[in-house]
Parts: sequence; C-alpha cells; structure tokens
Amino acid sequence: MRVASIQPMRKTTPALALLASIAAFQAPALAQADAPQDALKNTTAYKLVADLTSQVGQRLAGTPREAYARQWAVKRLAALGFAHPHIEPYTMPGWVRGEEKAMLLGAAEQKLAITALGDSGATPAGGITAPMVYFASFNALKVAPDSAVKGRIVFIDNAMQPLQDGGGYGPYGDARRAGPAVAASKGAVAVLIRSIGTDHNRDPHTGVTGWPKGVTPIPAAAVSVPDAELIALRAAHGVSEQVALTLTPRFTGPSPSGNVVADIPGRDPKLPPILVGCHLDSWDLATGAIDDGAGCAIVTAAALQATHGAPVLRTIRVLWAGGEERGGFGGEAYAKAHAGEPHALAMESDTGAGRVWQAVISLGAADKALGDAIAARLSDMGVIRGHGEAEGGEDVGYIAHEQKAAVIDMRQDMTHYFDLHHTPDDTLDKINPADLQQNVDTWAEVLKIVGNAPVIARQS
Ligand SMILES: [Zn+2]
Repeated sequence: MRVASIQPMRKTTPALALLASIAAFQAPALAQADAPQDALKNTTAYKLVADLTSQVGQRLAGTPREAYARQWAVKRLAALGFAHPHIEPYTMPGWVRGEEKAMLLGAAEQKLAITALGDSGATPAGGITAPMVYFASFNALKVAPDSAVKGRIVFIDNAMQPLQDGGGYGPYGDARRAGPAVAASKGAVAVLIRSIGTDHNRDPHTGVTGWPKGVTPIPAAAVSVPDAELIALRAAHGVSEQVALTLTPRFTGPSPSGNVVADIPGRDPKLPPILVGCHLDSWDLATGAIDDGAGCAIVTAAALQATHGAPVLRTIRVLWAGGEERGGFGGEAYAKAHAGEPHALAMESDTGAGRVWQAVISLGAADKALGDAIAARLSDMGVIRGHGEAEGGEDVGYIAHEQKAAVIDMRQDMTHYFDLHHTPDDTLDKINPADLQQNVDTWAEVLKIVGNAPVIARQS
C-alpha cells in the first residue's frame, strides 16, 4: 500500500531494482517484528475485542444490535469465569440514521463526505437547498446576529489539534454538542460542522448533539476534515455557497437498552466493591473497536489478571454500560439502580487502545499511603502520576460522584485517538496488541493494590 503512494515511477529499471532490493532486505526484519504481535493477539483482551467486533459488530444504543451485544456479553463473561453476569435493563430514547448526502452547488459542484450527528433532526425525504453561512468557530456563531443565520445552513469550523491528553475534545467538541442547538435557536435550517477529529481522511466523525427543552431538532451533520477545509477555502475566496442536503434520521421513541454487570467475588464480599467500567454500545458507522471495544477488553482482562490464581480482598465488578454514546444512559441507570450499595473505588476505560502514560489518583485524604503505593508501582512500569481530579467518565462517573467514591483515571496516549473516534475507520486493525496489553498490565497492578486495600475512604 505504501509503495502505491510513492511518486509515479519513471520507466527506469534502477528504481524498480532498488525497490526490489529494499523489499528483499526488509522482509526478514518484518517477519521478526510480526511474531510477538501475533503472540499478543492471543491475549484475553485482544481476543475479546476481536470477537466483539467480528461476532457482534456495530451496536448502536437502543437498537436490536445493542440488545444482541448484551446477550453476547453475558455469555462471554460467563465463559471467562465471572460470577452472575446479567443484564440490567432500562429504557432510553431511540434514534437511527437514515439517508445522508450533501453537495456544494455551483460551478465547482462538490459532493461532501458527511454523516448525521446523533439526535439530528431530518430534512424532508427529498432534501433541502439553502444558502450556507460560514463560521470559523463555535464562538463566532454564538456572537453572530440572528439575521446572519436565519433561513441558512450554518457551517461551524474548528481548529482542533492532536494532543497526547486528548484535551482538544472538550472545548472543540462543544461545536458538536451545543452548536446545532445554538444555530437552531437563531433560525438556521440545518447545521454542518467540521468533524471533531484530527485526521485528514474523508471520514466524517459522528457523535451526539443536544437539544435543550423548547429547541426543535434541525438536521445536523459532520463534514470530513478535508471537506471542511475545502469549505473554509471557498469561504475565504468569498464564494456564496448553496448547499443541497438530505438527512433522514429518525427518533424511534422509548427503546430498550441495558447494562451488563458481572463480578469477580472478593475474599470479603461485605467490603464495598471496586467498579471498573467501559461501554458496550458503539456508533453505527464501524465496529467500535477503539470506542469502546478496547475499553471493555482492558477492564475485563485486567480484572481477571489481577485475580488470577488468588482472589483479592474486595469484589471487582465489571460494568459494560449501554447507551453511552447517545448520552450516558447506562451510567445514569447504573447509579440509580445501585444507589443503595456503597462502592469503594471506580475506574473507567473509554479513550481507545493507546498506552497508559499517566495516572490521576483521587482518593480520600486519609489514603495518602495507598495513593503513593499505586503511584510507585505504576512508576516502575513507566506511568507517571498526574495532578488534578480523576473523573471516571460517563459510565462510572455518576455513581462515583454521587457516592464520593475514590476514582483513578488511567490516562492513555490519545494523540491519534481522534483520528478514528466515531468514524467508519474505528476498526480492529487500528489496535496495537502490545499497547492494549500494556493497559491490561498497568490496570491489573492497580486493581491488585486497591482490591487488597482493607480500607478505602470516601473523597471529602
Ligand atoms: Zn466511548
């Protein structure tokens, strides 16, 4: 594949001979490098995500695909030896994707690579055609007068950059989470956003958007980064765009969803458990390998590895939450269903399959020695201690927050996470088995320490 992207070759044999000699030289080295990678594909974690992505595939929340994933998950967790794997059902609002296409009209007509945002409204079946107004940022839209927006298709650009800690997703992601509602409230007929992503493929990034009470959903879609750059260039040249847009997703009403919960019982079942979470649902554009098949593989394999041969003192509970992508429905339902049972500590894996490089440890003030012990063990494994507050995430964050439970965030290298996040490119081949196993190994060491801690205080 790489060779094909090299500059067109002249018809001279020396170039071909050189390529052939490079290939011959590299072949043994590649074969050697592949061997350990293949061995790592036999790990519990890699096999789990490989099987989830190939035997279940996409599992959009609130659809029969997600229900099938829950059935699969219960069987798999039982086969792995977990106690009492079961489904905890709840209901959430359903939404499914429809047709999606967009075209810049005019002399330089161009089809755009788009995908509807989760919870997008719909155009009529035949689509709409309207003038487009370009905003360089969500902030620019916020301060624009309604007259600049009314009756138009709003385009929101962004300048998100790849960062190790994934820190661009919070601020730039607001354009997706809240931008469509702001545009709708100013009278826009539809919204296109530059994908909240850092790749330069023509893969649009979906993700949920929100509609505050009283704001009627309008059609809202993400445009691939290269297409967004084309729109920006045309805007800079003063092109007044007309856009033809067809988006026909629909809301399907109250729909069944659920969490999958299973335990590795501790030696003292009366002690509050350690909760490790991920989300089982995925977007529908791909097989949800990094988001969040990898996370479920990591927490599950780590729980097994930490207790292999000898159970720890506390029960380790695995939560494969549902409905995360559409708005954290599973995490909320878990917190409600288990409000009466104290949890000692919560951790979540939902940032891909990159290596853990930092841990943020938020324990009660009385647990300084415990925190230092965790940090020292991780330091030996190349993971540094970070500052600030651990938050958990959409799946374990609700219950941890409500109970003031201790939280540890294992921060992964997210430099390339937003190249793939919520795209048709979120597939198994993007997972490096060695990096995945590094997550399992570091998580397992943490779980051994906290699992054997007789006392874990609440956070103040
Ligand atoms: Zn996720």
